[in-house]
Amino acid sequence: MDQDVTKACTPVDLAAEAERRGISYFLISYTDLSGAQRAKLVPASAIRGMQERGAGFAGFAAAFQLSPADPDLVAVPDPATLVQLPWKPEVGWLASDLKMHGGLIAQGPRNTLRRMIARAAKMGLTVKTGVECEFFLLTPDGQAIGDPHDNAPKSCYDASALMRRYDVITEICDAMLHLGWEPYQNDHEDANGQFEMNWMFDEALVTADRHVFFKFMARAIAEKHGLRATFMPKPFMDLTGSGCHAHISLWKGDTNICQADTDPLGLSAEGYHFVGGLIENARALCAFLNPVVNSYKRINAPRTVSGATWSPNAVTYAGDNRTHMIRVPGKGRFEMRLPDGAANPYLLQASLLAAGLNGLERRLDPGKPLDINMYTEGHTVRDARTLPLNLLDAVRALDASTAMRGLLGDGLVDPYIHLKMAEWNAYCGHLSEWERQATLDC
Ligand code: ADP
Ligand code: MG
Ligand code: MG
Ligand code: MG
Ligand code: MG
Repeated sequence: MDQDVTKACTPVDLAAEAERRGISYFLISYTDLSGAQRAKLVPASAIRGMQERGAGFAGFAAAFQLSPADPDLVAVPDPATLVQLPWKPEVGWLASDLKMHGGLIAQGPRNTLRRMIARAAKMGLTVKTGVECEFFLLTPDGQAIGDPHDNAPKSCYDASALMRRYDVITEICDAMLHLGWEPYQNDHEDANGQFEMNWMFDEALVTADRHVFFKFMARAIAEKHGLRATFMPKPFMDLTGSGCHAHISLWKGDTNICQADTDPLGLSAEGYHFVGGLIENARALCAFLNPVVNSYKRINAPRTVSGATWSPNAVTYAGDNRTHMIRVPGKGRFEMRLPDGAANPYLLQASLLAAGLNGLERRLDPGKPLDINMYTEGHTVRDARTLPLNLLDAVRALDASTAMRGLLGDGLVDPYIHLKMAEWNAYCGHLSEWERQATLDC
C-alpha cells in the first residue's frame, strides 16, 4: 500500500532483538477506533511467527463494527516502533497495523494516518507534528486531586506543587530522555493537579506512536506511585480541562514550506491554505478532536477559577494569541488548540491532515487573522462560526462533510460515526440529577 514512512533504523528481526536486549515478552498492541489500546502479550519464543503473520484478534470484541462471524483481525507489529517498557524492560512494546484477508482495514486508526501521510507524500510533502499532552494526577479512585495541598486558585507553573510530584514526573521524563524523544520541559498546568510534559516534534506517524505510548506510560508510572493519571478532557467543572494542542508544519526536504519571513505571522501561502482547510472543516473535525461527551465541557466553557479556560469557543485564528482555535506561535507552524486528551492519537493527526490537505488542494483562504481577546471580545465578531455544542452536533457535522468523507474514506467514517452515536445514545439513556431537580416540579 502506502509508501514506507518508518525510520531507517528498523530492527528487522524481532527474535534477534529479543536476544540482544533481554526481552522476554512482546506486547503487540494496536489502538482501536475509540483510542483505547489493546494488546496480546507474546513470549519472545513465539515472536518470529507473529512478526510474519501478526497476532489474531476478534474484531467484534474490539469495537471495529465487525460481527462475531467476521474472520480475525490480524495485528502485524511495526518493528520500527519497538520500545522496551522503561519501567519493565523485559517487555518490548510494539504498535501494529491491522489487517484482514491480507489487506489493511479501512477503519484502522493507524492505517488511516498512514493513508493521509501517503497522500501528503504524493504532493511532495512531509508532515511534522508535535502534541502537548495535559493530564491530571488524581487519587486512585479518580475522585480527587492526588495532592491535597495543590489548591491555589492560580496554580499554573506552581514550583512547590510541581516538586511534590518530582518522583513521578522525572520517572516519565527520564524514560523519554532514554528513548531519545528529546523532552525539553515539564510543568504544572493551569488547573490544580494538572501537568504537561513536552517532547520534540517529528514526522506525524512517529509523533502519533509516541503519543499513544506516552499515555500508556504516564498511566503506568503514575499507578506505580499510587496515583491515577487521567487525560479526561474536563474532570472538574470549575477547573481548566486537559487539551492536547497539535502543532503542525509541512516540509519539502529540509525546507519548511509553511514559513515566509516577509509575512506578518511568518506563514507562506501554503501555510494559509492549510489553515483555511482546518477552518472550513472545523466543525466536522471536532468529532475526532473532541470525541467524547465530556469534551464539550472543555470547549465553549465558562471561565474557570484560574480566570480562563485556555480552550477555544469559536472557529477563529490569530497570531500568538491563546484565545483562538488556531494560534500561530511562531514562523512556519500553527497550533490547533481544539484537540483534547480523549482524542485518538492517530485520528487526531489523520483528521487534521485530511482537513489541511483539503485546504491546500483547494487553495482555501482562511480570511484575516483576528487580533482580539476571544474570551472578552468574542461576542463582537459577527461572522465567526461556532463550534459544535455537543458530541451529537459534531458527529452530524462529520456525517454531512463530503470533504472529510472523501479524504478519510467512508470505510473509516461510517464505523466511527456508528461508535460515536452508540456513545451518545448511551449518554442520553442516563437520567441525571440535574434533570430531576429541574423537572420534578414541572
Ligand atoms: P505552547 O505551550 O507554547 O503551545 P509547547 O512548547 O508546550 O508550546 O509545545 C510545542 C510543541 O510544538 C512541541 O511538541 C514542539 O516540539 C512542537 N513544535 C515546535 N516547532 C514545530 C514545528 N515547526 N512543527 C511542528 N511542531 C513543532
Ligand atoms: Mg481464544
Ligand atoms: Mg504547552
Ligand atoms: Mg498546556
Ligand atoms: Mg499549546
